[in-house]
Amino acid sequence: MSENDVAIIGASSAGLFAGYLLAREGLPVRIYEASEGLNPAPRTLIVTGQLYRALGFTPNEAILNRVRHIELTSRNARARVSLGEPDLVIERGRLIRLLASKAEQAGARIELGRRFTGFQGNGDGLALSLLDLKKGRVELVKARALVGADGALSPVARAANRDSRPTVAIVQAKVALPPGAAADTVQVWFDRRDTRFFYWLIPESSTSAVAGLVGEGQEEARQRLDRFLGEHKLEASGYQAAQVPRYESGSQPWARVRGSGVFLVGDAAGQVKMTTVGGVVAGLRGAEAVANAILRQRDYGKELEGLKKELDLHHLIRRVLDRFCDTDYDVLLNSLDRRAMGLLKTHNRDEMARAFWGLVLAQPRWLVLAARSLLRRDRVG
Ligand SMILES: Cc1cc2nc3c(=O)[nH]c(=O)nc-3n(C[C@H](O)[C@H](O)[C@H](O)COP(=O)(O)OP(=O)(O)OC[C@H]3O[C@@H](n4cnc5c(N)ncnc54)[C@H](O)[C@@H]3O)c2cc1C
Repeated sequence: MSENDVAIIGASSAGLFAGYLLAREGLPVRIYEASEGLNPAPRTLIVTGQLYRALGFTPNEAILNRVRHIELTSRNARARVSLGEPDLVIERGRLIRLLASKAEQAGARIELGRRFTGFQGNGDGLALSLLDLKKGRVELVKARALVGADGALSPVARAANRDSRPTVAIVQAKVALPPGAAADTVQVWFDRRDTRFFYWLIPESSTSAVAGLVGEGQEEARQRLDRFLGEHKLEASGYQAAQVPRYESGSQPWARVRGSGVFLVGDAAGQVKMTTVGGVVAGLRGAEAVANAILRQRDYGKELEGLKKELDLHHLIRRVLDRFCDTDYDVLLNSLDRRAMGLLKTHNRDEMARAFWGLVLAQPRWLVLAARSLLRRDRVG
């Protein structure tokens, strides 16, 4: 490997997309992945149509279903939001294999079974330590820049002395789509006793779905989910679970190590919308920002400004929602009038920054609701 190469750690959506964008411009790129194959554990994801715009192409191979409505239920209220552009239900493994083939076609090399264990800067690039899991041997490779796309527990972030990020647990169960449930409608339940987030049922097709929730820890989230499944007469045929980082507004996902750049992207950088804990589209936007920073020698922080603005807003909304009680959710759903619905229809969750003031003007009493809940001290911060 030459010292001009960019090394990316982690062959998942953020790392592969960054690799694709860099290799497409002719940069030598190597992507190192600890797993022996590109067959991650199954994970059903829901993303907005922003996915097309972030990728610049339609990932048909990865799409399981398209969702046109979201039904929201709180203790005493219900609302149905129709989406102008359908949300996409995708299978993460298929998206990863598609991005891997795009990255390889563009010229990136993907090396599987290589676990990153650390790096050193010597003023003349970076020397990375990679454990070849088959041979049981550590190899030293040189790189001009290092991109950590290695997930919530990012070993690259640790090696660059970035604090480890707090995480939340997402747990979801694969279930049969219940009778009466529509394949084009996601269902969301707010239940403040169980979660400061929400439960969901996401249809994968006319016969199957995933039901899940976000919790503070895996065990507690799994117990709550099992109780929810029992109450809704749903039977799990398998579970999907992992930790996802919490976004933190002030953190800097990059470091300069003796003249060389170390960049974090995707979950490794905490690029997650805290309203829904969705990280796929944000991670792809982060990947585009890191590719621009490396290709055009621009400031990564500047390239991230648009994404930061969006993620900061989601973080703020999360702080408000964390203090909601069940009655607040009732008020919120009951106040979704035609104007607010219209705005939610035309602006998806990945462009809240553009819709925000319109929504506030459409429903000024949401500000009162938000202020009241922020003044409340007895909820999770
Ligand atoms: C059950 C569940 C449901 C979810 N649902 C949604 C959803 O509906 N919508 C949404 O937008 N988001 C969702 N998310 C979050 C989303 O999956 C993540 O934000 C996204 O996959 C992060 O992608 P990434 O490329 O940053 O990192 P990851 O997908 O975590 O990939 C990191 C990669 O780095 C590799 N790696 C780690 N350490 C090393 C090392 N030392 N050396 C080499 N390689 C290493 C790993 O093997 C892995 O391949 C969900 C998460 C879970 C757990």
